[in-house]
Amino acid sequence: MHELGITRSIVAIAAESAGGLRVKRVIVAIGELSGIDADAVRFCFDICAKGTVVESAKLEIERVPGRGRCAACELEAALTTPYGACAACNAPLRVIGGEELKVKAMEVDDVRDMRV
Ligand SMILES: [Zn+2]
Repeated sequence: MHELGITRSIVAIAAESAGGLRVKRVIVAIGELSGIDADAVRFCFDICAKGTVVESAKLEIERVPGRGRCAACELEAALTTPYGACAACNAPLRVIGGEELKVKAMEVDDVRDMRV
């Protein structure tokens, strides 16, 4: 499953940014045009987080809607597929949003683990 590798990367990024602190919440932005199945990422998250500082963190997924801009007249429009034509001049739209996948924010435990 494609999403397993993606989720592994999300967990790795979160763990690295946490610098050894326990992660409580991870907010991930997934574009509607990215082809990534948010439910599959949600499903893989606990499996990938197990045994890391991200274990038992809450995953929040924000869907980023698709957006395109006309190459000819610069008109912007919502896109539900990576392809579309401008409503004004029928030129093809270029995708300008909705293809992203990124760790947007995260919350870590503010009390450092004092064990040695
Ligand atoms: Zn146009």
